[in-house]
Amino acid sequence: STPSGPLPIQRLHESLINRIAAGEIIHRPASALKELLENSLDARATSIRVAIKDGGMKLLQIQDNGCGIRKADLPILAERFTTSKLKTFSDLSRLTTYGFRGEALASVSHVAHMSVVTKTKADTCAWKAYYSEGVLVPPKAGQTPDPKPCAGNDGTIITIEDMFYNTPTRLSALRSSSEEYARILDVVTKYAVHNPKVSFLCRKAGSPTPELSTSATSDVGQAIRLLYGHSIGKELLHVESSCRTGGSSSRDTSAGDPDDSERWSAEAYCTSPNYQAKKTVFLLFINHRLVESSSIKRAIESVYSGVLPKGAFPFVYLSIEVDPRSVDVNVHPTKREVIFLNEEVITERISDAIQQKLVGQSHSRVFEYQT
Ligand code: ADP
Ligand code: MG
Repeated sequence: STPSGPLPIQRLHESLINRIAAGEIIHRPASALKELLENSLDARATSIRVAIKDGGMKLLQIQDNGCGIRKADLPILAERFTTSKLKTFSDLSRLTTYGFRGEALASVSHVAHMSVVTKTKADTCAWKAYYSEGVLVPPKAGQTPDPKPCAGNDGTIITIEDMFYNTPTRLSALRSSSEEYARILDVVTKYAVHNPKVSFLCRKAGSPTPELSTSATSDVGQAIRLLYGHSIGKELLHVESSCRTGGSSSRDTSAGDPDDSERWSAEAYCTSPNYQAKKTVFLLFINHRLVESSSIKRAIESVYSGVLPKGAFPFVYLSIEVDPRSVDVNVHPTKREVIFLNEEVITERISDAIQQKLVGQSHSRVFEYQT
């Protein structure tokens, strides 16, 4: 018989809590890779190499030449809320790193098998460690869970295998390995565009030729040409917009910290009306974070709707930098969205700048045709 009264409230088991939390952060292989890429960039890597098997579900490996992880930190590396990037709540308002919550590696360890090989400059050898459900585990039965010395270069290799082996519904929700691979390639491509001083490589494990490979010497424009092809590359317009005057100029700066909250700058590479795609390709970075914003996208599309025929759309790369104090990055578990001050004004100014550039383009073309 069904009970008529309320059921008792019970505390969830720790490992269930962690697995549920992990599912919010790691949606699919590409979301794990985004976290790992950001960790490598936070570690100031200048070379990042990614290897993938079966769309990242069988294997997702990322190797960087960053600062490495201290051996003493390995025991708590995959524990939830352990981080080297944040100490106090107020640090949140001056973040210069992608990470801050210490949840990524923990989450991965709750939904996959994870191992780490890492070496700092000060170490004489590398250390290898295996993790499951937030803690160090022995690589094989009968061994200790302690990190083992091994050969290795400065930097870190994170290997993730059998993603979602313990969450079958998540696994079955994933499409094909080719679609997951395409999403991974998309994330790497976007970070490679935004970080032209870092060399990126992405390949399928076992394949001799990488699908994506950039050198560390390019700039954003070159990276777009290389990664998105000639038809976009030859039509790229460079647009810059900023507000440097802010409130601080009118204030007495001797009275302590000037308020920079209205200062911002933006840089865009977007296609001229000669380029027409079936849908908008939009790369948006706010304070170097790859994010999504349907309102900014809509604003820019409406500018283009004035110069493109119906059903035609542009390629737009847009990087906005605002005062870290005026952006809240802690609104979404995957940090896919951010909230920042004066978003409407900034969006309008950027749209205007793009509009002017596009209009200038069509003028110059009219002029060309007339001569
Ligand atoms: P967060 O990035 O929010 O700090 P993570 O779970 O992503 O949390 O990583 C935990 C910690 O592990 C980081 O704070 C950093 O100290 C270390 N770490 C992770 N990946 C790397 C890496 N590739 N190179 C150096 N340190 C790393
Ligand atoms: Mg991180």
